[in-house]
Amino acid sequence: MCARARPAACCHGAAGSPGCGLELADIVRAAGAAYCAGHHLAGVQRRALADITACRTAAAGATHLRCGSCGADFVRYHSCGNRHCPKCQTLAKERWLAARNVSITLRHFGWEVREDPVKWLKGPSVG
Ligand SMILES: [Zn+2]
Ligand SMILES: [Zn+2]
Repeated sequence: MCARARPAACCHGAAGSPGCGLELADIVRAAGAAYCAGHHLAGVQRRALADITACRTAAAGATHLRCGSCGADFVRYHSCGNRHCPKCQTLAKERWLAARNVSITLRHFGWEVREDPVKWLKGPSVG
């Protein structure tokens, strides 16, 4: 399963996702049990936390593969596929964008409502 565009270096030995190294799964592993103990979570929420923690680890299962180029044996850990998992959804998003040859820039805007939000939504009072 090597990248044919990079014949000098096989991709099967590459580390996990790039970036800062801290993932949502790390936070869930560190604080998930305490959070669950102090909050009532629906089954789908508990399932999402369990899936996010297990995604691409031995807990999610693995497939043993042999590289077609160099013959090395390696393990590919399975994805959880949960729609709340950022690892799985990032991949799905990148595939969706690549299939449509789309490049987007997201900008995040925020503002502060200083008035009572209910009063603000009702609009100005008459008379
Ligand atoms: Zn290889
Ligand atoms: Zn996942």
